[in-house]
Amino acid sequence: MSIDYLIIGAGFSGAVLAERIATQLNKKVLVIERRKHIGGNCYDEKNEANILIHKYGPHLFHTNNKKVIDYLSQFTKWQPYEHKVLAHINGDNIPIPFNFNSIEALFDTHKAQTLINKLLAHYSKNSKIPILTLKKSVDSDLKFLADYIYDKVFRNYTAKQWGIHPDKLDTSVTARVPVFIGRDNRYFNDTYQQIPNKGYTHLFKTMLNHPNITLMLNTEYKDICKLKKDTFYLFNKKFEGKLIYTGQVDELFDFKFGKLSYRSTYMEFETLNQKQYQNATTINYPNDYTFTRITEFKHIHLSQSNQTTILKEYPQMHIQGKNTPYYPIFTEKNKIQYNQYKIYAKTIPNLILVGRLAEYQYFDMDDAIENALEKFKQLRKE
Ligand SMILES: Cc1cc2nc3c(=O)[nH]c(=O)nc-3n(C[C@H](O)[C@H](O)[C@H](O)COP(=O)(O)OP(=O)(O)OC[C@H]3O[C@@H](n4cnc5c(N)ncnc54)[C@H](O)[C@@H]3O)c2cc1C
Repeated sequence: MSIDYLIIGAGFSGAVLAERIATQLNKKVLVIERRKHIGGNCYDEKNEANILIHKYGPHLFHTNNKKVIDYLSQFTKWQPYEHKVLAHINGDNIPIPFNFNSIEALFDTHKAQTLINKLLAHYSKNSKIPILTLKKSVDSDLKFLADYIYDKVFRNYTAKQWGIHPDKLDTSVTARVPVFIGRDNRYFNDTYQQIPNKGYTHLFKTMLNHPNITLMLNTEYKDICKLKKDTFYLFNKKFEGKLIYTGQVDELFDFKFGKLSYRSTYMEFETLNQKQYQNATTINYPNDYTFTRITEFKHIHLSQSNQTTILKEYPQMHIQGKNTPYYPIFTEKNKIQYNQYKIYAKTIPNLILVGRLAEYQYFDMDDAIENALEKFKQLRKE
């Protein structure tokens, strides 16, 4: 089989590039995936109760990027879905991101009104203020509110999620926890909030369904490909094409600069003999239990089932070969270490690193898709 492009990984990064190369460049692509399915971490499947579950944690699509929506709409129809999250604080479930409704749920009327008035006096309506910005506030009421949110909502959740003190994390992570100056209970404010009407796996199947694309599941990159000095050998023959790698970059290079740190999660699914378990898709538990949150999938994908499936997520350290690397951990040390891999990768002609693991970045799905489309643009120019 003659192959122009070898792509490692059938998540969004690999699938977008495979689809673009096959349809726009009319080149032959071989996609290798170590798992028994396509879709990467976005994979979903119907379980025994006929409920569509997200095997690697809840995936909610949201974006302001029309280009990404237009691209994906070639492969799926959509179903509107706006994500709502509650946090279990002092025995109550309050809306997250923290907003005026959350304040009213937690404080007496007078205190709540004072805090809301202060927020409106200092920040523009409908803006999002990162918790660390609010914490620097000199106003005593706002400082009180910031400390309250930091202690009750943010600190313990972040420590559970990342396994390190929040101060040690890059501000790009902490900035993801905003306080919303208004009453919008939606978790995201993006223009487009929707999910593929037949699920993500179906979308991936449509993307990869092309005569120029060959897919090998249950296949480990190293079982078919070897890197000797700066040359790839595919099925023991020198590979003249391009190799697009979307897995862990440290693993590709046999951890020569050390293992990069990732956070993993143990996903515990339970199917219960009741129609509904909770009144929101996701409830966060910052201060109780060792899991971070419970998600009930029926809120995302409607189902007539008399049962319901929930997922509890227990964050844990990533152990190579034992669990899944989910989130790169952004610390100064890790960034420097990743940079060594990045520089080394540039010395290997025909190697292109793409995606969340290979580029050691926190990509939401829309970021991953846009990034892959940009990489394709560059490829096309070469
Ligand atoms: C728990 C969790 C929840 C998330 N929730 C959201 C959300 O709500 N909204 C959102 O927009 N984004 C969400 N994301 C982000 C989303 O999952 C990513 O943006 C997307 O999966 C990135 O795609 P990717 O192709 O870069 O990586 P991946 O999906 O990780 O795909 C990489 C693929 O490469 C394969 N692979 C790796 N190494 C090898 C090898 N050596 N040989 C063969 N195959 C290999 C892997 O098995 C995997 O299938 C979430 C991520 C996680 C972890």
